[in-house]
Amino acid sequence: MHDVLIIGAGPAGLSAARWCDELGLNTLVLEQAEEVGGQLLSVHNAVENYLGVRAANGRQLRDLFAEETNDCEFDLWTNVELDSVNLKAKRITLKSGEALQSIAVIIATGLRRRTLGIPGETEFVGRGIIESGARDREQLAGKDVCVIGGGDAAAENALVLAEVCPTVTLVHRGRKLRARREFSEQLHTHHCVTVFPESQVRRILGDDRVEAVEIERGGAIKPFQMAVQGVLIRIGWQPNTEFVRGQLELDENDYVSIGSQQETSVANVFAIGDVANPLAPTIAGAVGAGATAAKVIASRLQQR
Ligand SMILES: Cc1cc2nc3c(=O)[nH]c(=O)nc-3n(C[C@H](O)[C@H](O)[C@H](O)COP(=O)(O)OP(=O)(O)OC[C@H]3O[C@@H](n4cnc5c(N)ncnc54)[C@H](O)[C@@H]3O)c2cc1C
Repeated sequence: MHDVLIIGAGPAGLSAARWCDELGLNTLVLEQAEEVGGQLLSVHNAVENYLGVRAANGRQLRDLFAEETNDCEFDLWTNVELDSVNLKAKRITLKSGEALQSIAVIIATGLRRRTLGIPGETEFVGRGIIESGARDREQLAGKDVCVIGGGDAAAENALVLAEVCPTVTLVHRGRKLRARREFSEQLHTHHCVTVFPESQVRRILGDDRVEAVEIERGGAIKPFQMAVQGVLIRIGWQPNTEFVRGQLELDENDYVSIGSQQETSVANVFAIGDVANPLAPTIAGAVGAGATAAKVIASRLQQR
């Protein structure tokens, strides 16, 4: 029996665990990945907007978080696979067989990148499908690339790649780019960049590596193939809430609905960080929400 079970060990979960520890709560953190850090592990740029810290990249910031939490007494299990979650009863069972019980549960499962679900998307990961324009730029220098998506992340990555690639084709579904105006203007005037609005990539093709994409353009009768050697997909984010669907109130985009103290629609179940923050997901917000949830739980337990 634990006081608190925390699901997810990104910035939000680690912050909550650190605070639970300080407040004397018996806490277990469950993380599905091999290592803690969540999205920080895919931040390849410098992090300069978390107050008091300058980190060369997300991993370095994660290391600073981990260094601090290493001294704490909470338990942390990584590589965990949830089997069933009963939030009302605060009972969680793991695929490995353990049955866990607590007084409070904190959901800190963050977001994952949306996927297209098209042929080639998983097969060519690391073989032409890249994770980040900033990180993989040099690998794609001199190659033709396709960037999929119409928001800021797609636009920014397309511009980064256009510095080293002869052609960058940005394919997006909408009539207009959703990216901020400064990015859209640069894209539309950049000599290497072509923007295909109202279009969709239907397949990513190749033998051993990416060799082409099949594009369906709005108005065109037939899809056509375009030779590229690199593909970057940036079509938004999806909250990791499948395992609580039907138990917690979610908003129309599947984010957990919460009150001002991070509490969900089920008593003593809290949600913190990006999974409950559709409007302004940040490291600072996630860390702050973790502190709030831990303090609210501690004061409730004191009153019992
Ligand atoms: C490229 C990039 C750049 C960014 N730059 C900045 C920046 O400069 N400044 C800033 O403030 N923010 C930045 N962010 C956003 C920031 O990283 C997030 O706001 C922050 O990581 C959110 O923390 P979180 O703990 O809520 O979620 P996450 O970081 O998403 O962590 C969630 C954790 O939960 C785990 N999990 C998910 N499902 C389960 C499950 N079923 N069981 C167990 N564990 C599970 C995941 O494996 C993960 O470890 C950036 C993000 C990206 C991707």
